[in-house]
Amino acid sequence: MIGIVGGGLAAAKVVEGYREAGGTDRITIWSQDPHGPYHRPPLSKRLLRGEAEPPDALVHPAEWYPEQDVELRTGVQLASLDEVGAETVVIATGARPRLLDGTLELRTLDDSLELRRRAEDAKTAVVIGGGFIGCEVTASLTQLGVQVTQVVREPLVFALLQAPPMSEALHARFREHGVDLRLGATEIPEGSDLRVAGIGVQPNVELAQAAGLEVRNGVVVNERFETSKPGVYAIGDVAEFFDPVFGRHRRIEHWSNAAYHGTTLGKILAGEDARYDVVSAFFSEQFGRMFRSFGDPLGHDETTLEGDFADERAVFRFLRAGRTIGAVTTGLDEDDENALKEEIRAGAATTA
Ligand code: NAP
Repeated sequence: MIGIVGGGLAAAKVVEGYREAGGTDRITIWSQDPHGPYHRPPLSKRLLRGEAEPPDALVHPAEWYPEQDVELRTGVQLASLDEVGAETVVIATGARPRLLDGTLELRTLDDSLELRRRAEDAKTAVVIGGGFIGCEVTASLTQLGVQVTQVVREPLVFALLQAPPMSEALHARFREHGVDLRLGATEIPEGSDLRVAGIGVQPNVELAQAAGLEVRNGVVVNERFETSKPGVYAIGDVAEFFDPVFGRHRRIEHWSNAAYHGTTLGKILAGEDARYDVVSAFFSEQFGRMFRSFGDPLGHDETTLEGDFADERAVFRFLRAGRTIGAVTTGLDEDDENALKEEIRAGAATTA
């Protein structure tokens, strides 16, 4: 039997990958969340704006799980990995938001519905944080007609991406749409109808820690998602996995990473010779415009800009020793994106 602890996207993808590769063992998924696995990207975008409903966010309808010989146990919190009672254990426990007193957070489907309900009566909101949640929620609430003040302690939104031309174009776009964007600010204005914080997450490593597994910034695994204990694997937001493209361990908190980890581990558990082997990528969308990030800027010594993030198409590259190791883009077609990923793969390999 396979026991998956955590009921997010990564868990559902393990099932898909495993069954598609011919795996026949029974699978149990334990999930704290009352809903089955769902996609989180709509929670700060279409679901929050009322353009989608909860069933649209589900990875699969409830009946899919029994059809796949999966027991989906929702609303259950395990006290120890020993409770799993399976030969193969997959830790897919994800991450939980950092909390700020007196503010709403947005992590779960129910959080999104609660925020949507509260936004119906709100004229003003304060959003704290300049990362993914902060920017996406600011844009969505603004689109719903709420006057948003966004408080960002860094001088740039998405400071972590280290792509000032992209951040600066977003500053202009947010202000054009009427957002009161306060950069380099820590003071939280009083008196708004709504307060939301997007100030990062912390990985749920406690079960792994208690089981004596190696934990650093996340649960440490190799490129086949194996922990320090045979038969125990970790994937998704909680996993600090070995990325062979960059030759080092990384932890990535994005939808595409959870999906890829899950599918790949499913194949591995079914006996395929698979491993992590992609150039990491993720996306974000505000006011109908998407940007994408590829690879990793860590260790770059030069940047270049092609195009303009205020226009349709732009590529901001991170170079190390003259070779591309990462990029933030907007408006590329799929062929250009694939070419860029190969450029990064080659660049990371020669400079690792
Ligand atoms: P995030 O993207 O890591 O951004 C956190 C932001 O909060 C940063 O701007 C950070 O600033 C700031 N911050 C941290 N502590 C703070 C404090 N005490 N007071 C004020 N600001 C503070 O995290 P998130 O936006 O909360 O998103 C949560 C998770 O969901 C992340 O894992 C994110 O990747 C994921 N997510 C992804 C997407 C997507 O892929 N499109 C969309 C939504 C959410 P500093 O730089 O100064 O620390």
